[in-house]
Amino acid sequence: MSFIQESSTEFDSARLTLVHPRDKEQQHPLKTEPLFNLPAMQQRLLQLLQTTLELPRVLELFFRELHGQMCVDGLEYRHESHKLNLALGVQKLHRCSYRMTHEGAYLGEVVFCRGKRFSERQLQILEALLGSLLFPLRNALLYRQAIAAALNDSLTCAGNRLALEQSLQREIQHSIRQRSDLSIIAIDLDHFKKINDSYGHAIGDEALKATVNCINDCLRAVDGVYRMGGEEFVAVLPNTAVEAALLVAERICRRIAGMQFAIDGQDIPLSASLGVATRRTDESAATMLERADQLMYQAKQNGRNCVVGESATH
Ligand code: GH3
Ligand code: MG
Ligand code: MG
Repeated sequence: MSFIQESSTEFDSARLTLVHPRDKEQQHPLKTEPLFNLPAMQQRLLQLLQTTLELPRVLELFFRELHGQMCVDGLEYRHESHKLNLALGVQKLHRCSYRMTHEGAYLGEVVFCRGKRFSERQLQILEALLGSLLFPLRNALLYRQAIAAALNDSLTCAGNRLALEQSLQREIQHSIRQRSDLSIIAIDLDHFKKINDSYGHAIGDEALKATVNCINDCLRAVDGVYRMGGEEFVAVLPNTAVEAALLVAERICRRIAGMQFAIDGQDIPLSASLGVATRRTDESAATMLERADQLMYQAKQNGRNCVVGESATH
């Protein structure tokens, strides 16, 4: 018969004082353990966890130390609003979880697991060691937030121009290494100025958000959508040849035109013009973007609400 230990605890910096202070060293049972030097391990963790701001790396270093010293088999970390779900080591039956908070800010949930029950003393040690994780974890989350703010458009949450440049460079390198196709789609909303003029800027903003959702619905998880500025977007499609990219672009075009975007029961008509470029040998990111843009302008000239690819008009 197996007994699964499940415990869940709120962990705040306030708890550090329960197990940590030196004046409790005499009475604390941890200190009688000859093989385990808690202050030394805390000191080592403090130094180690300061060496990086990358959250997965912080957790990896933390787990590596615990795994070596504490017989912890696995560690999970979850933070829903940051879309983080990491698992390290081996997941076992006995688990104890800590909801990490600091000054009212939620820092995610840390779950330790092992094949054997955690003793009360081990839980106390884990809690003391969690104290060394608290600030590195908070700093790593702040760093992620800062990076996300630098790479995302705050209105639509699509990637911004900087993110597009980085992603396209990365995908070009990938396509060279893998000898795979890479396509991009330039997307520009038609007569968007009229939407703003007729319904107001706030409705225009809502239309931009709805457009990004609509484009995302047409893409795979590996694709990305970026806002170039104003009402112009670029989708990046790795491992995608021209025929498949044209099909995706046509789907986006149809979906935007068919979107039920209504304010106060009044339908607001939206459509877009799209240009599809598939990377040519030795082509740079800048030239690809320029070509996709030119093809998109051709679609404008062809009457808007349509797609233009490299050779044929669709
Ligand atoms: P075309 O079919 O030729 O592309 O015409 P258009 O009206 O879409 O193009 P134009 O470049 O003349 O106008 C783009 C408009 O997009 C003008 C600008 O006010 C609007 N715009 C740019 N950024 C934002 C934004 O963040 N919010 C809103 N609501 N409107 C924006
Ligand atoms: Mg436009
Ligand atoms: Mg435009």
